[in-house]
Amino acid sequence: MKKNFWEGHVTPGRIFGNVYFVGTRPASTHVIDTEEGLIVIDPGYPEALGEVLANMRAVGLDPMKTRVILCSHGHYDHAGAVLALREMTGAKVYLGRGDLDMVEKGVNTWVEELGTEYHEHFTPDVLLDDGDHVTLGKTDILCLSTPGHTAGTLSFFFDVTDGERTVRAGMHGGVGINTLSEGYIKEKRQPADMREKFLSGLGRLKSERVELFLGNHVHNNNTAVKLEKVAKGDKNAFITPEEWIPFLESREKALGALMEAEAREAETVRIIEQSKVVMIVRGVALDALIPLAEAMYRGGIRAMECTYDATGKVPDEAIAEAIGALAKHFEGRMVIGAGTVIRESQVELTAKHGGRFIVSPDMNEAIIRKTKAYHLASLPGALTPTEAAAAHRAGADFVKLFPISTLGAPYLKAVRAPLSHIRFIAVGGVRLEKMADYLAAGAKGFGIGVTDEDKQAIKEKNFAFVEERCRRYMQAAQGK
Ligand SMILES: [Zn+2]
Repeated sequence: MKKNFWEGHVTPGRIFGNVYFVGTRPASTHVIDTEEGLIVIDPGYPEALGEVLANMRAVGLDPMKTRVILCSHGHYDHAGAVLALREMTGAKVYLGRGDLDMVEKGVNTWVEELGTEYHEHFTPDVLLDDGDHVTLGKTDILCLSTPGHTAGTLSFFFDVTDGERTVRAGMHGGVGINTLSEGYIKEKRQPADMREKFLSGLGRLKSERVELFLGNHVHNNNTAVKLEKVAKGDKNAFITPEEWIPFLESREKALGALMEAEAREAETVRIIEQSKVVMIVRGVALDALIPLAEAMYRGGIRAMECTYDATGKVPDEAIAEAIGALAKHFEGRMVIGAGTVIRESQVELTAKHGGRFIVSPDMNEAIIRKTKAYHLASLPGALTPTEAAAAHRAGADFVKLFPISTLGAPYLKAVRAPLSHIRFIAVGGVRLEKMADYLAAGAKGFGIGVTDEDKQAIKEKNFAFVEERCRRYMQAAQGK
């Protein structure tokens, strides 16, 4: 069954002074109850508008008194219900200028990612620029442009009074780095400097004094927990001046970690592409693995695959630990990956232990997507053009044409003809003397298994033999 992303109840309540939370768990909606009517910040999902309206009534607010609808950004989970609420109340709609196309034409609204459809396009009444103010009654909201999550993301700052006390409230209007991955920026044709803009926005907001920290999503500021505290009598539960700067810093760190993971992923692909050989090691006892791998390394191998045991005799955890030990030992020298990956859990295990790439005998889109989500290189198996094209579409970095030996170089050449954009590697019974033919047919690399001769040599600890064999494979792969 498809997940309904808009579902998830939060008991609504007063945050502080005239500020209320009336949203849902997946999308925050805040209301400011001014002398001249209500300001609704982010009405949320259209599917959840009924719940938001009920929440408003539950805390004693009349939705029909809405005069201002203020959007933090144009994504569907924040602005999807704008049109319906405006038609109901006649309120004026304010949005950051950079998100106009998003709400007017439905461009990059994050709606596909949320698994739903977007029909409710609208034109805002007022487009906001950096430094603009939105005022109603005595409430004066400073809007600062903080692009990155979207081009038009705004952050809001305003004073809130409760009895004798006045505090400064602040909300960053879009801190998700889901739209800042290299893939998303490229695919959605976002400006190349979105990440820099995001970071500079975070830096800039550090100079804002924020005592009342509002979340753009409930997990930003633990909205639900704090509302419970308020309900139990702690009226200052949301007054947490110590949280603002660390929150902004945590978002800087998150983007830094993403960029690091992407750089590592690109490096893995580059290493496989340049060295052209993935050495496959299957069923070697852990104590023999390091000396064996060292011999392979000396022979020129830079990518080594340890296979999971499809028979289930060796537990996945044991293989993953071996991968982890090798990855640690060879950090900076050789990339270690996992082979015979047929379950998503094996992708997770491999990533957890520092493996850098995932090789599968088959083409499983779920595994490819998971692999890319963990920033590992993806090498699924395929035999037909249909499978190869599907693997490429799902994000595979290389497609392993497997088993190649049964069909030979002419087959590779024929498959590759209409699919020259796909990097094929030849795997399955690849023999030294055939490698030149595969290269001529367009192979970009090879997966090479350990032969019976190698196994014997390993048994006899004749690592010089393994080293020499690897050297010959490497030379053949480079067309020498
Ligand atoms: Zn968003």
